[in-house]
Amino acid sequence: MLLSLALFVSIEWGPLTHERHKYGIASGDPFVREIVLTFDDGPRETGMQQIIAALHSNDYDVKATFFLVGKFAQRFGNITLLLHNAGHELANHTYTHPRLYQDPSVEHIMLQATRCDNVLEELGIRKTRFLRPPGGGWNTRIFNAMRRKNLKLGLWSLNTADYTGRPKHEIVNLVLGSARPGTVVLMHSGTPNTVEALPEIIMGLQKRGYTFVRLEDMDNGGRT
Ligand SMILES: [Zn+2]
Repeated sequence: MLLSLALFVSIEWGPLTHERHKYGIASGDPFVREIVLTFDDGPRETGMQQIIAALHSNDYDVKATFFLVGKFAQRFGNITLLLHNAGHELANHTYTHPRLYQDPSVEHIMLQATRCDNVLEELGIRKTRFLRPPGGGWNTRIFNAMRRKNLKLGLWSLNTADYTGRPKHEIVNLVLGSARPGTVVLMHSGTPNTVEALPEIIMGLQKRGYTFVRLEDMDNGGRT
């Protein structure tokens, strides 16, 4: 009882306080009209080529950030390479997608990060800097693991909740209505409504003067 209470109160969600910026990013410069589209939980066996296609057209060529689950990247190595070759940033979403904030061991957290990184390295993809913890919860153990692995926590500032199966127009309206300079949008691989929403999101935000960058581009130019 006491242990579960202690675990509960040590979890945090939401914006990072100033001292956390060294080891994490959830949004970019609020005065620069840049947006990051992020896709979690891939690569999936199907649907990834549709995302790649939707991010590219005659009118735009968007580079996004994909937080990959290592065991899926291993299983679907060819799809992982397709994402990489299309110019997208591939980042770490652990090896087996456990709730890291429930893990009492910093070493276990580091191992999840290392195993995912190893898969990408074996595919010849350069080691990524960002890790997004499954479920989004973070605590001091996770930050400790980030520091020791020289990784950064890659969070988000706008959750589309596309995993609920919400319809395309809701996803479009939410993003167009809520996006601000520096917004990092959370979406998921394997949700068809998200793929359908992408062209309207991209063109709508481009019309307002936004450019799309990968998380590492935003971080380099941002406030961290
Ligand atoms: Zn996830």
